[in-house]
Amino acid sequence: MRQQRRTKKIQKRTLKAEGRSRKKVNREIVLVTYVFVGLFLIMIGYLGYFTYKESDTYRNNPYNSKRQQLFSDRYIRGSIVSSDGKTLAETKVDEDGKETRSYPYGSVFAHVVGYSTKGNTGIESIASSYLLNTHINPALQILYELKEQKTMGDTVKTTLNVKLQKAAYEALGDKKGAVVVLNPKTGAILAMVSKPDYNPNEINEIWDELVSEENKNSNLVNRATQGLYPPGSTFKILTLLEYIQENPGNYEDFSFDCDSVYEVGDYSIKCSKLVSHGEEDLITAFAKSCNGAFASIGQTLNFSSMYKLCEKFGFNEKLPTDLLSNASSFVLKDSISVWDVLQTSIGQGKTTITPLHNAMIAAAVANNGVMMKPYVLDTVESESGTVIKSFSPENYRTVMSKDEAAILQKYMRAVVTDGTGSKAEGDGYQVAGKTGSAEFATGKETHAWFVGYADVEDPEIVVSVLVEEGGSGGSAAAPIARAVFDAYYGEE
Ligand SMILES: [Zn+2]
Repeated sequence: MRQQRRTKKIQKRTLKAEGRSRKKVNREIVLVTYVFVGLFLIMIGYLGYFTYKESDTYRNNPYNSKRQQLFSDRYIRGSIVSSDGKTLAETKVDEDGKETRSYPYGSVFAHVVGYSTKGNTGIESIASSYLLNTHINPALQILYELKEQKTMGDTVKTTLNVKLQKAAYEALGDKKGAVVVLNPKTGAILAMVSKPDYNPNEINEIWDELVSEENKNSNLVNRATQGLYPPGSTFKILTLLEYIQENPGNYEDFSFDCDSVYEVGDYSIKCSKLVSHGEEDLITAFAKSCNGAFASIGQTLNFSSMYKLCEKFGFNEKLPTDLLSNASSFVLKDSISVWDVLQTSIGQGKTTITPLHNAMIAAAVANNGVMMKPYVLDTVESESGTVIKSFSPENYRTVMSKDEAAILQKYMRAVVTDGTGSKAEGDGYQVAGKTGSAEFATGKETHAWFVGYADVEDPEIVVSVLVEEGGSGGSAAAPIARAVFDAYYGEE
């Protein structure tokens, strides 16, 4: 009996002990579960935070190429698309996981879109941090990471327009030069062509040839942003503005009698093709691009004031763009020679400018005196199309008053209606602009320029054209601008 009771007690104790230990185990499981869930949440939170916030800061550092390399091990480089949604660059992955960067338009967008092997250039460079980033659902991203699968990078939508780019590319033909198309109100770059070009799909194969010393074409140089050329008569826009600013009450009293050669001491300034322009007022001299008249205007100008005006317009400084660019140069300040004054007033001499900068000057006239920052990235979107980041137009600076811009608008309109720029205009829109035929070496054809905008009543598009050794701006550059205006205003 006693024995039995003892046995029962022992059994009870054992049961209690078993229950206690079972409860303990349960508690441990719950605890471990909580810890894991907690850690998991922290991890997701961190990854999410990293993906959405921190990483952008890290990646946008251009010196972070090592980190970018690391990201390219995790992400497939995203696509670059035009403003109308056409693919300009994409990465294709074959069955073995081999990635190939493909450029569906070949050489048409070569310089502005750039390439991403052999270093990065163009948009491939300035948007690299966005292309090698992802904003897909963080949970999905973790899943991909666990499967050791690469994630598709974000898509960068640009301001570039395929129709305008193609029109500019075809119109420039096999000439060397550049075409830049801007929206004057926003600074959005709608097209940017540079020739000679290259096919970015073949960049690895043609690299050695492109960089070899025998190749004198500088195919890799983006002439639109890096090419420095004498502005020729397009610079008369600034000579004219300085003259108006120095003679606000009586600039319209100006008159000049052109007999094709303007002589000052031993120096002579010739008008294009030795044409005698005869009796001219200021607007006629500008419309006909009379070199004698503008050289004589230059002699009356205060050049330290002219220097300030040029700096205000962006000479001697890096242009506000992330694209590789060279600074335009205006060097004359004071105690300058008569020859330098005569030459500089008509856009010859030591002054140099890039086609992009010349487009910005014409855009400032069209935009009533406000110069906008040129920009080419519009939005960054996740693979599913959610907009992650938007780039907005930014004022660069006000370079002249609205009244002064209105005068230049009227004078630039006269260039097209009564002067050298008539070939820039087609049907259905009205253009204002300025031609230039810039001498750069004795015995060679001049570089041909045209800068201008349409429509004069409500400017939406600015075109800057430079044709190396193209001859006269009116016959070589203006028709290329017209092809772009036609594409913009035409039915197709
Ligand atoms: Zn003349």
